Amino acid sequence: MTRFHVLTIFPKMFDSYLGESLFKRARAKKIVSARIYDIRTFTRDKHRKVDDRPFGGGPGMVLKVQPIYDAVRAIRTKKRSVRVVLFSTRGKKFDAPTARRLARYDDLVLICGRYEGVDERVARHIADEEISIGDYVLSGGEIPALVLMEAVSRHIPGFLGKDESLEEINGSFPTYTRPEIFSPTRGKKWPVPKVLLSGNHKDIDIWRKEH
Ligand code: SAH
Repeated sequence: MTRFHVLTIFPKMFDSYLGESLFKRARAKKIVSARIYDIRTFTRDKHRKVDDRPFGGGPGMVLKVQPIYDAVRAIRTKKRSVRVVLFSTRGKKFDAPTARRLARYDDLVLICGRYEGVDERVARHIADEEISIGDYVLSGGEIPALVLMEAVSRHIPGFLGKDESLEEINGSFPTYTRPEIFSPTRGKKWPVPKVLLSGNHKDIDIWRKEH
């Protein structure tokens, strides 16, 4: 079983997505587990501060290193193969080979940044790698964590049911379903390519490879 451990200051954001559909089923079947940790519970000061102002000045707040350090240390004690990922706009771009590689670990710790980001000592001393999900800036690492969890899970045996197929990007082709002709307005026709209705599987394969 692959275990995801998500470190976030907004733990509730994960409930609805991970409680539906494929994740719901995979968690029930013990194919994956997902534990969401509120970084705030690892603070040591009485105000339970997860963030502070950046040294050197500038706008916004930065997530502190100590609560993240304590959280990761608590998770790492279990003797399994653990990989710690920090989401960062400066990370390596996430792609299918990375998803496949990460699917081989027992435990994936996913650190979600917020505000102006995370104290750089997390990247330097705690995380094993930094990942960006694309060349744009989001407000936090929570959606990147869900993107990674879903892309990785699809490579875990049993996650996909018989109705879903593990398709690499270069194996994907356009699909259609009924009706054969859709008329959005009178006189307009959006037909399905004839070859797909032909029943000729050789021709269908050729068409799919061409597209
Ligand atoms: N000023 C920061 C932006 C921080 S955005 C910078 O230039 O890096 C706040 C957090 O959102 C980041 O710490 C990171 O965890 C997450 N995040 C934002 N965009 C992301 C992206 N494209 N990929 C992965 N994580 C991202």
